[in-house]
Amino acid sequence: MKSNFESAKQIFNAYLEKKQLRKTPERFAILEEIYSRADHFDVEDLYISMKNKKYQVSRATVYNTLDLLVECDLVTKHQFGKNMAQYEKSYGFKQHDHLICMDCHKVSEFCDPRIQNIQNMVGDMLHFEVMHHSLIFYGNCKKENCENKN
Ligand SMILES: [Zn+2]
Ligand SMILES: [Zn+2]
Repeated sequence: MKSNFESAKQIFNAYLEKKQLRKTPERFAILEEIYSRADHFDVEDLYISMKNKKYQVSRATVYNTLDLLVECDLVTKHQFGKNMAQYEKSYGFKQHDHLICMDCHKVSEFCDPRIQNIQNMVGDMLHFEVMHHSLIFYGNCKKENCENKN
């Protein structure tokens, strides 16, 4: 069976071909790095982990590759609060939504199929093809070690 990364690589390859963009090894290395991590990350996190693995990539390449990966739906871009945009891999991974603690800013995930049902129902009702959604619950995490808690 093909791994999610292998499938994502094929999709990205086809996308670059269609758009007549260069298939540089850097672009595929960035994709591989993203599919090897399990977290939400910003451009800077990704840039630093590429650097630590001795890849020769510029920030501009990281930015521009992320944009392409978002366009072909292999990566999801999130705007959590006022922070820098955060990203995560999406191909072959379960659809989910997020909770953010307003004190420690930790992001948690949850998955509830009812949300997908609402999306489908509203789409049908309003004759609207819903492509994706963004749902974030803000609150307080109630963890003992939550930082910045009053
Ligand atoms: Zn917290
Ligand atoms: Zn997530």
